[in-house]
Amino acid sequence: LGGIVKEPPMHIVHIAVEMAPIAKVGGLGDVVTSLSRAVQDLNHNVNIIFPKYDCLNLSHVKDLHYQRSYSWGGTEVKVWFGKVESLSVYFLEPQNGIVWKGCVYGCNNDAERFGFFCHAALEFLHQGGLQPDIIHCHDWSSAPVAWLFKDHYMHYGLSKTRIVFTIHNLEFGANYIAKAMQYADKATTVSHTYAKEVAGNPAVAPNLHKFHGILNGIDLDIWDPYNDKFLPIPYTSENVVEGKQAAKEALQQRLGLKKSDLPVVGIISRLTHQKGIHLIKHAIWRTLERNGQVVLLGSAPDPRIQNDFVNLANQLHSTHGDRARLVLTYDEPLSHLIYAGADFILVPSIFEPCGLTQLTAMRYGSIPVVRKTGGLYDTVFDVDHDKARAEAQGLEPNGFNFDGADSGGVDYALNRALSAWYDGRDWFHSLCKRVMEQDWSWNRPALEYMELYHAAKKY
Ligand code: ADP
Repeated sequence: LGGIVKEPPMHIVHIAVEMAPIAKVGGLGDVVTSLSRAVQDLNHNVNIIFPKYDCLNLSHVKDLHYQRSYSWGGTEVKVWFGKVESLSVYFLEPQNGIVWKGCVYGCNNDAERFGFFCHAALEFLHQGGLQPDIIHCHDWSSAPVAWLFKDHYMHYGLSKTRIVFTIHNLEFGANYIAKAMQYADKATTVSHTYAKEVAGNPAVAPNLHKFHGILNGIDLDIWDPYNDKFLPIPYTSENVVEGKQAAKEALQQRLGLKKSDLPVVGIISRLTHQKGIHLIKHAIWRTLERNGQVVLLGSAPDPRIQNDFVNLANQLHSTHGDRARLVLTYDEPLSHLIYAGADFILVPSIFEPCGLTQLTAMRYGSIPVVRKTGGLYDTVFDVDHDKARAEAQGLEPNGFNFDGADSGGVDYALNRALSAWYDGRDWFHSLCKRVMEQDWSWNRPALEYMELYHAAKKY
């Protein structure tokens, strides 16, 4: 085994405000947990510093215990420690109640709350004498770490630490993102195509020399149809047809849909402009016209949009109750059953930095139907049009996609997908098997992050 040089372990600290499954709002929460686990599996030391929200899902925290406290910002900050998905997490609980608002986002002044948390996190490292190699911060919400570190903490004995900043979504808090881009040693975003799409944005453009696209992965232990307590029978690509059939029946049963052999289109999404709401609605009607079933799991932070979908749900449940079900809440267990029980997962986003739902869909043998943007473009290769582009990635085509942001676009992809299901079931099943066998894990992206962390240390 000569020639294999063992890398010395690096110490990486994430400072973040979302983390699956204890406080997940969207993909950022998945990424913090699953990237950390992948890097830890490569034998590096990873810690997460996280707010001790009052709304944490504590049932997923093991061995939670109080460690100590320190004073900062005119208050006492209590430090708790616990394990989440085998990751070591420090929970900070400022006694001024700044993270006791019953929610992650949308309560009082988020920028002020998270700014306070970022500052408290650096103070925790400083007072504890911790000197990580890398501090990794995420989006606008922990962007202040970048400049607070470079303006202050770097000079308080944390001089060997480097800052890596990841943009998960440039839509929110671009001013903070611009500033963190300027201060960070290295910056990333979550796919190559999104990196190109935002390269001209004034928040990013001045710092392209340190900006890289690294695709997100999914955690194969958390998303595993062979070991998933929410599914009726475990399955792999070997028994995908049987496994998905059982899941489809369980899904139909649970949602009160007619138990019949019809194509099921699933949608699992935050309901916001980004996700292509008008295309989602159109696709629901188109699927019903083509005699399919449709299941939507989603919730809208904007009450007007939520209300709009409640009305649509009432209408559909009365006119097409046996074939359409809209579940307008956040429901992790149900999401697993939909990923497994659907034939197709539709993701018609207007923009999508990476997108995790299409990757999870494939892990469960569901075929993605997506709009060609950002990470969706990088991960879904159309069976009719993208053979060469897939081959360049060492892959075979794995789904259906479309351009444009109008109903004609989504129809083009959805019609071909449904026809494939109706007209060639054997071929369709071989496609399900194929997508399950593609590797959308963190295996490769985690190595790319390690390379980036090493490059940051030399910076
Ligand atoms: P974004 O971060 O923009 O919301 P991603 O595709 O990156 O989009 O991540 C979305 C994540 O949230 C996926 O893991 C998806 O399964 C999950 N998700 C979205 N909406 C719901 C919901 N209503 N119930 C359960 N899980 C959801």
